[in-house]
Amino acid sequence: MVTALPETARQVVFPARDEISVLTAAVPAPGPDDVLVRVALVGICATDLHLLAGHIGDPFPLVPGHEFVGEVAALGERAAADRGLAVGDRVAVEMLLPCRSCARCREGRYNLCERDDMATGLPRGRQYGVNIPRTVEPGLWGGYAEYLHVPAEAIVHRLPADLPFERAVLVEPLAVAHRAVARGRVAPGDRVVVIGPGPVGILTTAAARAAGAGRVVMVGTRDERLALATRFGADAVVNSRTSDDLAQAVRAALGGADADVVIEIAGVAAAQNDAVRLVRRGGRVVLAGACGAAVPVTFLADEELLTREPDLLPSFLSAGGFEPAIALLTRDTFPFEQLVTHRFGLDDVETAFETIRGRRDGVLKAVLDPSA
Ligand SMILES: [Zn+2]
Ligand SMILES: [Zn+2]
Repeated sequence: MVTALPETARQVVFPARDEISVLTAAVPAPGPDDVLVRVALVGICATDLHLLAGHIGDPFPLVPGHEFVGEVAALGERAAADRGLAVGDRVAVEMLLPCRSCARCREGRYNLCERDDMATGLPRGRQYGVNIPRTVEPGLWGGYAEYLHVPAEAIVHRLPADLPFERAVLVEPLAVAHRAVARGRVAPGDRVVVIGPGPVGILTTAAARAAGAGRVVMVGTRDERLALATRFGADAVVNSRTSDDLAQAVRAALGGADADVVIEIAGVAAAQNDAVRLVRRGGRVVLAGACGAAVPVTFLADEELLTREPDLLPSFLSAGGFEPAIALLTRDTFPFEQLVTHRFGLDDVETAFETIRGRRDGVLKAVLDPSA
């Protein structure tokens, strides 16, 4: 299969804080080590809205989007040989471009890569769609676009040819969920509580179930989302807004015992406090929610931490999560398509953001289709 190489690509660009444009960029032929990916679908993440609002540094002008899947449009000779890829193959690319040589990369924690080569114009140690400005050549560093530049550092995963993109587009949030579950060392039979029924939270109930959790309880504030979690592996749900005694309600939902593992994915300080209070003595607390700004969280040092010895385990990005995520998406265990509620073209990104901000039309996960 041969796809004609495009000369230009359309991109959504954040030229500056609170500004959105749709621009065209030149598409150079890939170098020997590079892959050019045609973006099929890209998920819109809360992070993208935080970026636009200027909550995450000053990466402008920025092409946002880190939840992309697509197919190989062209690739260099060495990239084809090294990666075993060919034009037309379906792929997912991890958002982080690790250097593969710093101490953290070498110990396998590449999500914590310590390199930052931006001074020399290289994106090593940085993240697609988050902190690689469009001014870095060739400018194709975000998923809200028709094409994406994939250099040698990038981690590329092959997607099964028969996995629909509508399902595959959840691979990054599901990989984040898998990492959170792995950080919490969720083992068969564990009682697991997940706080925050957004897309990643709901996918975390699925990942916990897939890891063998004995009982999974979802905690949140919106009933329709909590109801959806029961289709993704939650045995019971608790609305934290309407329950008088959250700890007691969760204990009852867990069958009369406290949680072995609590995974917080709400991204608010109150949820992180709840997570520490809800876990059993000596249990594991995974803090996976991004607050999107500098938010202090305070715990009672003796009462909540010292005398109860919970393991506090922050979980950042998706390292190690893509392959289990692809395996789970390939099985029919959960109705993943139900999470993708809205689809927009690149020109309609402002409408998409308004829909998400206003929580309109029951939006859960909205995606952009650059070919629409
Ligand atoms: Zn995301
Ligand atoms: Zn590194």
